[in-house]
Amino acid sequence: MRLVLLGAPGAGKGTQAKKIIEKYPMPQVSTGDLLRAAVAAGTALGKEAKSYMDKGELVPDSVVLGMVEERLKQEDCKAGYILDGFPRNTKQAEALDAMLGNLGMSLTAALSVDVPFENLMKRLTGRRTCKACGQMYNVYFNAPKNEGSCDKCGGQLFQRDDDKEETIKKRLDVYSAQTAPLIDYYGKKGILKSVDGAAGTIDEIFATVCKALELK
Ligand code: AMP
Repeated sequence: MRLVLLGAPGAGKGTQAKKIIEKYPMPQVSTGDLLRAAVAAGTALGKEAKSYMDKGELVPDSVVLGMVEERLKQEDCKAGYILDGFPRNTKQAEALDAMLGNLGMSLTAALSVDVPFENLMKRLTGRRTCKACGQMYNVYFNAPKNEGSCDKCGGQLFQRDDDKEETIKKRLDVYSAQTAPLIDYYGKKGILKSVDGAAGTIDEIFATVCKALELK
């Protein structure tokens, strides 16, 4: 399965991606995670990306496309993957189609996780991630048992730099202007599946995701 996950920041794409790969093991290719790893490693690419990420803007396509192409060429992606946070605009979507076309492949589906705009702010300001295992929490909706530490591995929880209120507004604007049009893009290709990302618990939403993707 080659799957694209669409949805505004805070819609729960990453959380659902983690649920999918727990049940159906395949790589979760998150451009946000790849960029944050490059920033943490202090590479030239990371340094360039950080200035955009801190402002809530998209990192230039030239940087992201090369990074994705390299990742998708790796052996573990041969049998399929989930793209989380990519593509983010029409140019990236077209480049992905071209990349796959060259390999004689196509996307299985684009899954849109829909959440009303007014809910997103609280989801993003409340978001915390485990430094050690990447597990995500929300201090409002899905708090860890012990504040600041991961239920799964005891690792330290942190708030992403770009989950601060000033940056969030910009990221939501960027989403509306540049990424939301992809819902139409994949709708026209006939591969769009949509789920309500605000209806119920994480597990209930996951059940609708499985149904939409016809996962057994
Ligand atoms: P995310 O973790 O997906 O919310 O991404 C965090 C930040 O990384 C975004 O606000 C962008 O600055 C950058 N980013 C992630 N994915 C992309 C992408 N596909 N294209 C451009 N910038 C991206």
